[in-house]
Amino acid sequence: MPFINSWATPDRRVLLSLAEPVIATLDSHIQVRPSDCEAGGILLGTVHGSNIAVVEATVPTTWDKRLRFFFERMPSGHSSIARARWNASRSTVRYVGEWHTHPQDYPWPSTLDRIEWNKLSRTRADGRPMLAVIVGRKGLYVELVPHAGTGPVMTPME
Ligand SMILES: [Zn+2]
Repeated sequence: MPFINSWATPDRRVLLSLAEPVIATLDSHIQVRPSDCEAGGILLGTVHGSNIAVVEATVPTTWDKRLRFFFERMPSGHSSIARARWNASRSTVRYVGEWHTHPQDYPWPSTLDRIEWNKLSRTRADGRPMLAVIVGRKGLYVELVPHAGTGPVMTPME
């Protein structure tokens, strides 16, 4: 079962679409085997009012630290891709958030994830909340992370 493309906050104020290549990238990094390591990258997309369209998910670089229950992104490779897309798209495709995998069917953020997400949210150049995606074996966890605390969790629209 492929992941769903369209998501919304409970109040339907923020709609999110994940383009087909994004779904394919997330899908190909699911931690299927017991030996599979966590993976992750950044999410690039366009914003339309409060809505977000994710057009690209970067894949782990050789600098990232990958373990079974741990993933640490080394910013250099990912941010240079973000810069290149921003320039090539005439400043429309931007950094919108991050994704990583968990070896859980229906994933849930760890305490460390939350600390890291709030930190990343505060550093976003456009001041918007950060889109955080965790890829589980059977579903995605999608949250709009504010500068502090917990944000709205998005649910699939079918
Ligand atoms: Zn995590």
